[in-house]
Amino acid sequence: MSVSKNFESVYRASIEQPEAFWREQADLIEWSKPFDTVCDYSNPPFAKWFVGGETNLCHNAVDRHVAHRPDDAALIFVSTETDTERTYSFRELRDEVQTMAAVLKAQGVAKGDRVLIYMPMIPEAAFAMLACARIGAIHSVVFGGFASVSLASRIDDCTPKAIVSADAGSRGGKVVPYKPLLDEALRIAKHQPTSVVLVNRGLSDMPMRTGRDIDYAQAAEAHRGETVPCEPMAATDPSYILYTSGTTGKPKGVQRDTGGYAVALAASIKHIFMGQAGETYFSTSDIGWVVGHSYIIYGPLIAGMATVMYEGLPIRPDAGIWWQMVEKYRVSVMFSAPTAVRVLKKYDSKFIKDADLSSLKALFLAGEPLDEPTARWISEELGKPIIDNYWQTETGWPILSLANGIEPQTTKFGSPGIAMCGYNVKVIDEGTGQDITTPNTKGVVAIEGPLPPGCMQTVWQDDARFVKTYWESIPGRLIYSTFDWGIRDESGYYFILGRTDDVINVAGHRLGTREIEESIASHKAIMEVAVVGVEDKLKGQVAMAFAVLKDAAAYATDADKLKLEGELMKVVDEQLGAVARPARIRFVSLLPKTRSGKLLRRAIQAVCEQRDPGDLTTMDDPSALAQIKSLVAG
Ligand code: AMP
Repeated sequence: MSVSKNFESVYRASIEQPEAFWREQADLIEWSKPFDTVCDYSNPPFAKWFVGGETNLCHNAVDRHVAHRPDDAALIFVSTETDTERTYSFRELRDEVQTMAAVLKAQGVAKGDRVLIYMPMIPEAAFAMLACARIGAIHSVVFGGFASVSLASRIDDCTPKAIVSADAGSRGGKVVPYKPLLDEALRIAKHQPTSVVLVNRGLSDMPMRTGRDIDYAQAAEAHRGETVPCEPMAATDPSYILYTSGTTGKPKGVQRDTGGYAVALAASIKHIFMGQAGETYFSTSDIGWVVGHSYIIYGPLIAGMATVMYEGLPIRPDAGIWWQMVEKYRVSVMFSAPTAVRVLKKYDSKFIKDADLSSLKALFLAGEPLDEPTARWISEELGKPIIDNYWQTETGWPILSLANGIEPQTTKFGSPGIAMCGYNVKVIDEGTGQDITTPNTKGVVAIEGPLPPGCMQTVWQDDARFVKTYWESIPGRLIYSTFDWGIRDESGYYFILGRTDDVINVAGHRLGTREIEESIASHKAIMEVAVVGVEDKLKGQVAMAFAVLKDAAAYATDADKLKLEGELMKVVDEQLGAVARPARIRFVSLLPKTRSGKLLRRAIQAVCEQRDPGDLTTMDDPSALAQIKSLVAG
């Protein structure tokens, strides 16, 4: 099929003849063995893409380009935290990845073993991810902002053979030690890795445990120059696990395949991001999130683009730093989050005007709802298309956006766009399970199986949870739920209206309210607690906690309560990380619940946002909500 200029027909083909559509997209990557079957969906909802084929993510991201353009820029590292700037060509990147791969192999890491990566945004983090892909190890990157309990639960779930970490990160000029958090996590965890490979940046003390901890610089010296070939991987072999929050306290390990992921990323860079080999891609995300996996590391590199990896804040040394980077590195595609734009909006727009942004084709924003004023402001200041895109850790690449690479399309502010090729998106009536076909009618955004290539294969080691959580939440139907409310208008544009579950989104970071509740409740003073997401002008949402004390008399004064609030914040910081810290923790004598004891989080949220809490006939004791109301008013 030749790519038609008409998006509608290309999209239809991707849904009606997915085999032909994806067979053509599969040519965007290199295979060491061709596949026999494009999609095996004989056991729904488990989709197997490119069955029989063999490929390697690292080969496609690195070695493949070394063959044609060894000296072109591949990884551009900029840290305004340590004042470091370094560009690695494809050849240099391959050499660094081989060194890291040799170090991991020397530690006994082999195909199928897990490697947990807990690192700041430094080149060695990229080397580690690509090295795992090279040797067929399954990486699991844990966001550096997470702390010991979050880390320990992930260590126990993915049971890594090795961990790659560093002494510290740095944020706003302040050193954030990683090693003590990792040591604490390993003290709590049941599973122990054979080795911990540590990059010493010289930022913080890094006491080493003999027999387990390895200094990367020393190990790298011993292995530099070694050749480590790319392991041929079945298209369906897992490439990585990335944990994400859900409704329970236990994070889900989203498992991704190899071949389908590579093809989906290559197709998305072409059709959605309009990126081309030789250009530069700059995503301001972090490798700990899915955007970092897909659009800092794998996507741009697979497409032969240079990718910018930035350690630092958007406003330091000043609010022009990102635009200066766009100018200096001739960035053509930029990807960020609405929160970051809302932060920049507070600063003088001369920071944008002063930079030469002629290389930039578009700014893509995702991770949370993009409000219209923010979209308009940045669109006017930049004078470039602003392209919203909606997706999830689970899908790995955009579900909704605009495929301007296929046919230029109109932006509708407030809408992340239309369904992308391969995604058979539906709006479903939550009660009946029926499709909603009337435009502008609210329902659950769902995707008919098979999910396209690149989407999650399963929950790591838990097929039953994958099916139950994602595919059986809508009555009478086996259909993937995004757990987002949405509407579709008469022209096929979607509008996302918030989560249907207890997941909240703080500054584009997805957090489970249950995890935060469990952390606060681990303090001896707390009997029970409810955490809700409350609308915030800057961060989209912030977490608010309401806790019931075991002994209220022990915290009688305001000063006692403030002190306890500080202690509880510290507990959350130490267990989950500052990213999960609630904006406030307030104390009440009881929580609003139904007569059967179910916490009425939505009613709490409504009261916090000064909205009508809706039907409260099932509520047990109305005074509970009244207490929250008066605290909020105060
Ligand atoms: P994550 O898995 O961390 O990427 O979070 C995915 C969730 O973030 C989605 O289910 C949505 O609730 C929200 N989200 C992501 N992108 C957008 C967007 N462009 N517009 C609205 N919500 C979004």
